[in-house]
Amino acid sequence: MILVLLGPPGVGKGTQAARAAEAQGWHHLSTGEILRSEVEQGTPLGEEARSYMDRGDLVPDEVMVNMVAKRIRAMEPKDVLLLDGFPRTLAQAESLAEAAPGGAIAGALYFRAPDSVLEARLLARGREDDSAEILRHRLSVFRETTRPLVSWYQEQGVLVEVDADRSIEEVEKDVTQAVASLLHPSNSAH
Ligand code: ADP
Repeated sequence: MILVLLGPPGVGKGTQAARAAEAQGWHHLSTGEILRSEVEQGTPLGEEARSYMDRGDLVPDEVMVNMVAKRIRAMEPKDVLLLDGFPRTLAQAESLAEAAPGGAIAGALYFRAPDSVLEARLLARGREDDSAEILRHRLSVFRETTRPLVSWYQEQGVLVEVDADRSIEEVEKDVTQAVASLLHPSNSAH
């Protein structure tokens, strides 16, 4: 089963995905982490990806789709896979829907926080692609290219919103609850 984590840079979805995966025994795939490790190792893929990442642009769909498809093919039926940082474009979302077991994504969690909070968190993190100018560009790429996926998943009835402008522990509680209600709709309190 596949769950998608959506949200702007700095919203904390990577932190939450790692915690949830650890606590529940789920798998966690961060496309940003994979790309950074390819860059560090100087692989051809890393070389190609680096120029896009340094500018705060998206790496081409084809590269990303192949990367994730490989991982999905290796899934066991009982696996829960949290996708962090993918899909980021409609083309990626469509190819994910095709590759997903049964053609369906079980849920999409949309993490929200005000821009001022995101900027403060990203500047504090201080990664190479986190300079003030580049991160403003990344936020605009998110708004223009990735945010339309929120309504796309909403129309499919699988979107859950998470208020990410709270402590890590509080957000984690919501994530656990949201996933439980997606996994077992009949047990949900709603
Ligand atoms: P953040 O957690 O701050 O949102 P990530 O670590 O997920 O950032 O991604 C860092 C960079 O890697 C992105 O700015 C982009 O260049 C590239 N990247 C990661 N995932 C994708 C994707 N699905 N499609 C295109 N580019 C991606």
